[in-house]
Amino acid sequence: MSEYEIETVDGPQAADREAAPPPVVAVVGRPNVGKSTLVNRILGRREAVVEDVPGVTRDRVAYEANWSGRRFTVVDTGGWLPDASGLAAAIAEQARLAVDLADVVMFVVDATVGATDVDEAVVDILRRSGKPVVLVANKVDDAATEADAAMLWSLGIGEPHPVSALHGRGSGDLLDAVLDALPAEPPPETFAAAGGPRRVALLGRPNVGKSSLLNQLAGEKRAVVDSVAGTTRDPVDELIELGGREWRFIDTAGIRRRYRENQGADFYATLRTQSALERAEVAVVLIDASEPLAEQDLRIVSMVIESGRALVIAYNKWDLLDEERRHYLEREIDRQLHNARWAPRVNISARTGRHVDRLVPALDTALEGWGTRVPTSKLNQFFADLVAAHPHPIRGGKQPRVLFATQAGVRPPKFVLFTTGFLEEGYRRFIERRLREEFGFAGTPIDITMRIRE
Ligand code: GDP
Ligand code: GDP
Repeated sequence: MSEYEIETVDGPQAADREAAPPPVVAVVGRPNVGKSTLVNRILGRREAVVEDVPGVTRDRVAYEANWSGRRFTVVDTGGWLPDASGLAAAIAEQARLAVDLADVVMFVVDATVGATDVDEAVVDILRRSGKPVVLVANKVDDAATEADAAMLWSLGIGEPHPVSALHGRGSGDLLDAVLDALPAEPPPETFAAAGGPRRVALLGRPNVGKSSLLNQLAGEKRAVVDSVAGTTRDPVDELIELGGREWRFIDTAGIRRRYRENQGADFYATLRTQSALERAEVAVVLIDASEPLAEQDLRIVSMVIESGRALVIAYNKWDLLDEERRHYLEREIDRQLHNARWAPRVNISARTGRHVDRLVPALDTALEGWGTRVPTSKLNQFFADLVAAHPHPIRGGKQPRVLFATQAGVRPPKFVLFTTGFLEEGYRRFIERRLREEFGFAGTPIDITMRIRE
C-alpha cells in the first residue's frame, strides 16, 4: 500500500465516479443526406467533422453530447465507408452495426430526395432490430419543404422529424424526440453496486493475442458470463478469478467474436475500444512483441491515456523473441512509447502462459496509482521545495510561480495549480515527472491544470 490516501471503489466518492456510461445514439443514412452536418449540429459546433476527402476514415467516430442535461454518445457512422461490395450492401452493414451498438438509431433521409430503395432496405433492418428509431427528414430548410418531410411517413417507421441540419431549423424538437427514445436513466448507484470486481479492458490491434490471453486467464475457471444491468445494450463481460479475486473483463464477447477483414473492421475496432474504455477502470494494451510497434498500437495507448484510465502494457508472444530482439525492444519501447513510460509493463506469452501471473500485480499497481490522493499539506510542501530548488525560467522579465496546489480528483489523479503566470510546457512536464518520482502514480495518466492569477 502507498502511504497516501487511496480512494477505493466503495469509498466516499464512489457514487459520483461510478456513473453508468451514457447511452449511445447512432446516426445512420446514405452518403450526403447530412449525417455529419447533423452530428455537428447536435454537438453545437461549427468545426468540421465533415471530411472533405471521400474515402478517408475519420479518426474519431464517437462524441460526447448533451441535451437538456442528459448526456449521450453520438456515433457518426458516416465515418464508416462503403466498400467495393456496393453502396446498398455497405449501408445495410452500417445499419446492422449501428443497431448492434446503439440504444437509439437516428435514421437520416434527405427529404428533398425522398425515400430511395436503399432507404427502404435500411428500414427493414431497423424495424427487425426492435431498437427505437428516430426518423430524421433532413434538408427541410424552410416551410415550403415541410410537405416533402411528411411524405416520409410512407417508410412506416413513425413520424418524420423535419430538420435543417445545416441551419438548425427543427433541431431542438428532434433532440427532444431523441431524449424520449433513450432508455430511462439508471439511478447512479446501480452501476456502483454492480461494480464490485475491478473492470479491465483488454485492448490491442487484431492478432496480438487478446483471445489467446483471455483463454489463458480464464483457464479452467472459465467464464461466468453476464450482461451489465441498467443498459439496453448487452455487452457481455466475463468474470475471471485471478490472484484469488474476481475481475470483470469488459466486452469479451467482442474480443472473441471474429469480424471480417473489411474497411469497416477498423472503424468497428475503434468504436469498441472507445466503448470498452468508457466502462473500464484499467486497460491492458496488448502489443505483439515479435513485430515492430505499429501506428495502431500507439493510437490505442493514446486512447487509453486520453480516456483517463489506468494502463498496463503487455508485450505478448515473448516466446518468439531472440535475445537480440529483446534487447532492441527495450530501447524501442522507451523511444516510441515515451508518453506512457510510467505504465507497468509485463512481457508475456499468452500461448505458453509465461509470466501471465505478473498481470495481476501490474493491474494492482496501475489501479493503486490511479486512485492515489496526495494530502494537500504534502502536496504544498512538495511544491514549495520544487519551486525553491528549480524555479521557472524567467520569461520577459517575469517568473511565474506556483502559489498553491491541490489535488482536485482521483481516477485519474487531477491537480490544479494556482500560479502567478503561465507555466510553459517544459516546466509542466518537469512538474509531472517530479510528481511521479515523489508520489508514485505508476500506471496512471495524471492531469494538471493551471489557474493563473495575474
Ligand atoms: P453525410 O455524407 O451524410 O455525412 O452528409 P454531409 O453532412 O457531409 O452533408 C452532405 C451535403 O449536404 C453537404 O454539402 C452539406 O452541406 C449538405 N447538407 C447537410 N444538411 C443540410 C441541410 O439541412 N440543408 C441543406 N440545404 N444542405 C444540407
Ligand atoms: P486477437 O486477434 O488479438 O484476439 O489474437 P488471437 O488470440 O486470436 O491470436 C492471434 C494469433 O497469434 C493466433 O494464431 C495465436 O495462436 C497467436 N498467439 C497469441 N498469443 C501468442 C503467444 O504468446 N505466442 C505465440 N507464439 N503466438 C501467439
